[in-house]
Amino acid sequence: MSGSNSMPSGASFLWESAAGRTINAPELFTEDQREIARAARKFAATEIFPRIAQIESKKSGLVPELLRKAGELGLLMVDIPPEYGGLGLDKTTSMLIAEEFSVVGSFAVSLGAHTGIGTMPILYFGTPEQKAKYLPDLATGQKFAAYALTEASSGSDALAAKTRADLSTDGTHYLLNGTKQFITNAGFADVFTVFAQIGGKKFSALIVDRTSPGLTVGPEEHKLGIRGSSTCALSFEDVKVPAGNLLGEVGKGHRIAFNILNVGRIKLGVGTIGAAKCALEVSAKYAKERHQFGKPIGAFGLVASKLAEMAIGIFVGESMGYRTTGLIDQRFAASTDEDAHVAAIEEFAVEASIIKVYGSEVLDYCADECVQIHGGYGFIEEYQPERLLRDSRINRIFEGTNEINRLIVPATILKRAMKGQAPLIERAAFIRASLAKGQAPAAGEGEFGVATQVVEFCKWIATYVLAVAAETYHVNIADEQEILGELSDIISHVFALDTAVARVRQIVEGTGGKNEMNKAVARDLLAAFAPPAYSFCVHTARHILMDVCEPESLQSHLDAIGKMRIDWPSKVIAAKRRIARAVLEADGYPIQRET
Ligand SMILES: Cc1cc2nc3c(=O)[nH]c(=O)nc-3n(C[C@H](O)[C@H](O)[C@H](O)COP(=O)(O)OP(=O)(O)OC[C@H]3O[C@@H](n4cnc5c(N)ncnc54)[C@H](O)[C@@H]3O)c2cc1C
Repeated sequence: MSGSNSMPSGASFLWESAAGRTINAPELFTEDQREIARAARKFAATEIFPRIAQIESKKSGLVPELLRKAGELGLLMVDIPPEYGGLGLDKTTSMLIAEEFSVVGSFAVSLGAHTGIGTMPILYFGTPEQKAKYLPDLATGQKFAAYALTEASSGSDALAAKTRADLSTDGTHYLLNGTKQFITNAGFADVFTVFAQIGGKKFSALIVDRTSPGLTVGPEEHKLGIRGSSTCALSFEDVKVPAGNLLGEVGKGHRIAFNILNVGRIKLGVGTIGAAKCALEVSAKYAKERHQFGKPIGAFGLVASKLAEMAIGIFVGESMGYRTTGLIDQRFAASTDEDAHVAAIEEFAVEASIIKVYGSEVLDYCADECVQIHGGYGFIEEYQPERLLRDSRINRIFEGTNEINRLIVPATILKRAMKGQAPLIERAAFIRASLAKGQAPAAGEGEFGVATQVVEFCKWIATYVLAVAAETYHVNIADEQEILGELSDIISHVFALDTAVARVRQIVEGTGGKNEMNKAVARDLLAAFAPPAYSFCVHTARHILMDVCEPESLQSHLDAIGKMRIDWPSKVIAAKRRIARAVLEADGYPIQRET
């Protein structure tokens, strides 16, 4: 709950009521946002898609050439303010571009690394001089950027980097020594943000030019997926970096590294949902074309069910992603100050991790089932599903592995609660007292009455078990990763449920345009998603309590959760069949946007 009262706060989905809230969603995109999305879609269709084979074969110079063309159309400058040659548009627009390019993983990763983790350290942490020197060329694609954090012996444990920078005795430059591993765009980037220990112990960031003597770029890695993207090691041997290239403050590199990753995580989450839409489209078309036993395979329940599951995951992931970009945009709009922007990004760290994990796992599901729906053809290189599956896999590894991101979710909430920045302790006390008096959230009025009640139940359940785990393990909770992982999944389900109910309500209550077409499908998406998600929260909470509590207290905790158990009579299979029919009719994701 940091920040002013009128500003949205991070993770507040856990304690604020779901009722009557408007969230940012594709139905509310402005004409300006849609125009940029159209330009990106056209560019992907005309420039990127026809060159997939050449991109994948690492045709020399092709990716930078395409990036430069994207730059000419203004697609690299969305986040950069006008005074540095950019468009200064909102994060929602920036994410829309990521979504449109996600159909070709290699290109999407190259573009995302340049505009995101490559450019953003300078954008958010650079001095006016550094911004003026680098941003205009990065905005237009005259130069490209990369982000060098990982080392051979420090990946997830990024702060343990060994690369070091020592200030010269005359204070004019740093001498940089060390190696970095797996750096995206390293093959052609002109500018690197390099994280190093200044004086061997103060983790900091430096801007390093490619032309610096002593900087060597290693050979291209040969990868399972995103084969057309550039991934190389970097080595620094007594590289002289001007003292003026220090980014931010000495010893504060972690603020840069982690906040930049937060934006990257949201971008990755939205991008993976875009790729999942592509997998659904390819699957839907094939499920209509391919006949077995005298029928199109899409008519079989077990195939239809996969199409429906894909659409549900996409809907939920898309909704969480754009809800969060809307919240960040709201905070960005309130101030032009970069510190306020960094604070806004930091505020939504929990959502960023959830969106990253959810999107990458939805894409893995969609890409894998796309292969399955294609049967043997799915396994053959010349068909698209094979590439989609290979390209998908990296997303659970970079921008913080999904294990690390799962740990971040409850750890951040607990840390904020300890600092009085999140009302977890008060909420847990209120929930316990209410349940002891037999009071639990009641069903509301109208079409979404039960759904809203169930979302409230899940919020109470999440808060309840989080508090029990925190009280049981105290500071040692960090050693209970299995419990933290399950807590993270419950909290993610709360965010997903809260968001899905809010968006479906908006669609149903909205009028005109594509809203009218989307109403029936949106209702079915909620009907198919919410009951299993609610059951997941209840069952996972019970299992956590069984693992965490001593026998003498267990029953009372299970009874408390029991007060939030209802039978929710729902026809999930029927809803999924209707969703699958809508997917087949739409040749893909059935929720339509104004284009
Ligand atoms: C194609 C590609 C592009 C990349 N691009 C970039 C880039 O542009 N810039 C950059 O800096 N890096 C980049 N990376 C590096 C990437 O971010 C790291 O690979 C990633 O952070 C994981 O680090 P690691 O590979 O050292 O794995 P490790 O950290 O060794 O992890 C190995 C396994 O152990 C698990 N693990 C580790 N620590 C914990 C823990 N505390 N608790 C539970 N589980 C844990 C991990 O989740 C993982 O499953 C890229 C990597 C690839 C493959």
